[in-house]
Amino acid sequence: MIVAKRKPIEEIKEMVKGYQKVLNVGCGTCVSVCLVGGEKEVNILNAELEMARKMEDNPIEMGAASVERQCDREFLAELDDKVGEYEALMSMACGVGIQFLAERFPDKPVLPAVDTTGLAVNQDVGWYEERCRSCGSCVLGWTGGICPVTLCAKGLYNGPCGGTNNGSCEIDPEQPCAWFKIYERLAGQGRLDLIKEFHPANAWQDQVPRTLIQPGYEKAEATGQKT
Ligand code: SF4
Ligand code: SF4
Repeated sequence: MIVAKRKPIEEIKEMVKGYQKVLNVGCGTCVSVCLVGGEKEVNILNAELEMARKMEDNPIEMGAASVERQCDREFLAELDDKVGEYEALMSMACGVGIQFLAERFPDKPVLPAVDTTGLAVNQDVGWYEERCRSCGSCVLGWTGGICPVTLCAKGLYNGPCGGTNNGSCEIDPEQPCAWFKIYERLAGQGRLDLIKEFHPANAWQDQVPRTLIQPGYEKAEATGQKT
């Protein structure tokens, strides 16, 4: 899932300092599961902001709304009748949700209350580890299911650098060396021949905006007959 963390309260206060009435919009999917941007977190942040501004003798009214997914047009439509009464919108969704909200209401300032940090697995309640950077050309098939784009500090594709040290990465002894892990996994599977093959560098397709249309929908997209 996509994970995020809430911005520091001082940064959020700075963003809303010119407004007296702001609608804070949560998202009920990924950021809700990772405990940062669901309905509950919207209410907590709103209470903090209202309290802080009251103490500064400069009250703010924070409205609350939460939609199932901010990255989905049909759910954003639920806000159409509501946003008009607010000076600005705040979003606690991931970066794509925030942008989609801004696109739907282009005349309203949209303020991000969270920092999106990546695609992660849920190791335990409140504990998330990044596993994928959506590079657009997945190599897990020859790396034993371990992602060198995400886990190797240098994104190497052909074995470890000279800094690998007894299973740790040179950037941090607490950080496992991705290629040590890949070697161990492939050795356990009897597939070490894969590590000897040369693999061209990542194309870094994630450095430009991409559009994905699933094959069954290409014709409808081309003819403008989207459902
Ligand atoms: S190789 Fe690319 S798509 Fe596959 S897990 Fe790593 S970043 Fe994600
Ligand atoms: S020590 Fe390992 S994980 Fe760290 S940069 Fe070198 S190859 Fe990558």
